This record gives sequence, structure tokens and C-alpha cells, in this order.
Amino acid sequence: MSVMPTPRTPTAALDVDRIRTDFPILSREMSGRPLVYLDNAATAQKPQAVLDAVAGYYRGHNANVHRGVHTLSMEATDAYEAARRKIQSHLGAERVESIVFLRGTTEAVNFVAQTYGRSRITAGDEIVISAMEHHSNIVPWQLLCEQVGAVLKVAPIDDNGDIIVEQYEKLLGERTRLVALAHISNALGTINPLDTLVPLARRRGIPVLIDGAQAAPHTAIDVRALDCDFYTISGHKVFAPTGIGALYIRPEWLDKLPPYQGGGEMIRSVTFEKTEYAPAPARFEAGTPNIAGAIGLGAALDYINALGLDAIERYEHDLLDYGTAQLATLPQVRMIGTARRKASVLSFELQGVHPHDVGTILDQQGIAIRTGHHCAQPVMDRFGVPATCRASLAFYNTRAEIDALVAGLRKVLELFA
Ligand SMILES: *Cc1c(COP(=O)(O)O)cnc(C)c1O
Repeated sequence: MSVMPTPRTPTAALDVDRIRTDFPILSREMSGRPLVYLDNAATAQKPQAVLDAVAGYYRGHNANVHRGVHTLSMEATDAYEAARRKIQSHLGAERVESIVFLRGTTEAVNFVAQTYGRSRITAGDEIVISAMEHHSNIVPWQLLCEQVGAVLKVAPIDDNGDIIVEQYEKLLGERTRLVALAHISNALGTINPLDTLVPLARRRGIPVLIDGAQAAPHTAIDVRALDCDFYTISGHKVFAPTGIGALYIRPEWLDKLPPYQGGGEMIRSVTFEKTEYAPAPARFEAGTPNIAGAIGLGAALDYINALGLDAIERYEHDLLDYGTAQLATLPQVRMIGTARRKASVLSFELQGVHPHDVGTILDQQGIAIRTGHHCAQPVMDRFGVPATCRASLAFYNTRAEIDALVAGLRKVLELFA
């Protein structure tokens, strides 16, 4: 299967006022004020095009995939497989078989731990991650280490939230069997220099998994240029439904990995003596998949590609700079995460006020931010805080919303003065 180039609008600026009308939920009011949704790193809102794709499937084409010869089943199968091709093209994957639908990044990392890990990693082997990983890219490796007796090594980060490259490189050794890194940190916004980090591992023949949950909504992805072995995305972070995600698997692994779960759809033939497995990707997708979710994910990728990821990146970068500058006007704000290259995540402490109180008072003004450890407790430990406030931006956010956030924080400070 040849890869169609993804159409990208060259340089058109985003018309954010119009884009906002594509997202029905953004016109909601909270406590009598317009909703200011700044929790996009936890989950992103869904455009009408995605809602229509999901509803359209259930209204007009609902049937199980791959089984039936009847027309509806063929339509459902066509739509499901078309979604797979959209993801292939979006990630720049060589082959469509390399795209496996799973529930999200959490399941994808567990998948790699239990297929690649269980079959290739043994006692004394090492797995290298970084100190900024989401719990989803820590705990599955701890479970694997307990199961096979492997050792987890953690590359440290500096005070800005950048991986210390020399220390990372020192961890790569004879026994390293896998490197697993975030593309972009959900807690700090750090964009990792994968063009440096991945080759350091690949040159030593070490496979690399990239957790792309936070990258997909903000930047173009090219798995071949990255030269990674596994790359994961989460639908709900990229304006698609919850409960769907995709894992890219480098083609050379497709026939080498054992099945993940057993069940329907993943077999060629079953007897009580011996079961033969179907080739990838069916082998890795036991049971009835989230068909509507996959179709919604395909529609979400069409939507962001129509806007253009270059335009999205430029707009968000400008918004991040504006937000960083506006927050800096409050002397009580301490930013957590000041990496050289950052995506649109503003993590901070407000001196003297517990993040939970900040979040609650902002909510009373219709402003949704996340407060807590952001599923990255080791990051909190690294910066010596129990929790942070996090405003995370998407392309539908505006400078006016940043102003509302800063005004809200001023109110918090008055209440706690
Ligand atoms: C959200 C997130 C995950 C978990 O993704 P799910 O789809 O919720 O399983 C993993 N890693 C990062 C960096 C994330 O932001």
C-alpha cells in the first residue's frame, strides 16, 4: 500500500473565531459566564465533524466489521479500514498493517510491554525511560520488570524540564532492550529533542517507543523520519472520542510480536489443539473493536489536517508566548517547566495558594484548568511540589481567554491576601 501525502494548507493563518463555532461545547456557559476551557492536555473538545462522523456511522452503517458478507458489514469494514489508512498517512507509516487500533496510549504502552517486552526482555535486561514520563509510560514497565526481572532506568531532567542528554546517553548500554520516551510532556510541555535522543539509541540497535499522546494535537508526526519502532496516539487528546487510540509498529516487528489478547477476529483457524493467528493488524485486535471511535479518529485527523498543522503550531506558539508573558506579570506565579522547546502547556504554582483552591475559584468564574499531579508524580517530586496548576491550550483558545485566566488568578490572590 503506497502512502498518500497528507494535504497540508501551506501558510494560511487560523480563523479562530470561525473555528470555535465548529466546537458546540465551546458556546456553553459556566456560572453565567462563557466557558474558558484550558484543560486540553487532559482531553480535548470535539468538533462537529467528529460528532457527525460517529453519529453518521451509528445512524447509517452500524454493523460488525470483517465478519459479514452483507452490505452493512462491508460498509462498516470499509469505514473502519479507511480510518486506519488515514492514521497511516497522518503518521507517515510505510504500511497500513503497522497501525493497530487500541483504547489509547495507556493500552498501547501496555501492549508493547506485554508483546515486545514479554517475548524479548529477560532478567537483568534494562529499559530506559525519562523522569518526565506520564504514569502510563512508567507503570507498564514496572509491571514488566516485576514479571521478567528486568531493571528500569530513568534519565534525569534539569531544572527547566529538559532531559539531560549526556546522562541519558550514559544509561544506554549492552543490556538496554528498549527506550520509551514522551514526545511532549503533559506536565511540563517540554518537546523532547527526538532527533538527538532516538538516534543515540538506534545507533546501538535499541528499539524506541515514543508516547505521542501530547504531540498529536500540536505537531506533525513522521514515524519514518523519527526512526522509532513504536509510536502511540490517543484519540481523545486529538479532538476524537475517548476509548480509541492507535499504535504504530515498525514493519519488521509485525510478524515477530506474539498476540496481545486472544479472542475473535485475531485468528486464522481455531481448534482445541492449535490456533493459528491472523496476520497483523488483525492479530493484535482481538474482539469487536471501537469501530465508531476509529471512524471519529479518522475524522479528527481530517479536521486538523484541513486547518494545517503548521498553522496550528504557529498559532499555539504565539498563544504560549502570550500566556507565559501574561502570567509573568503576577510575581506570585512560579512557572514549572521552562524547556527550550515547549508546546502549549502552562504549569505553575501560585505562591501561598494550594492548586486545588486555585482550580476551585477559577471554576466559579467559568475557567477550567487542571490541578494536581497530572499523572506524573515523579515530575512533581523533581520540582519539589505536591501539585501544580496547569493551563493547557488548543488552537481554539484565544488571548482573551488567557486574559480571563490572569484576571481570575488576580481574584484568587485577592481572596487569599
Ligand atoms: C494522556 C496521556 C497518556 C495516557 O493516554 P490515555 O489515552 O488516557 O490512555 C499518556 N501519556 C501522555 C503524555 C499523556 O498526555
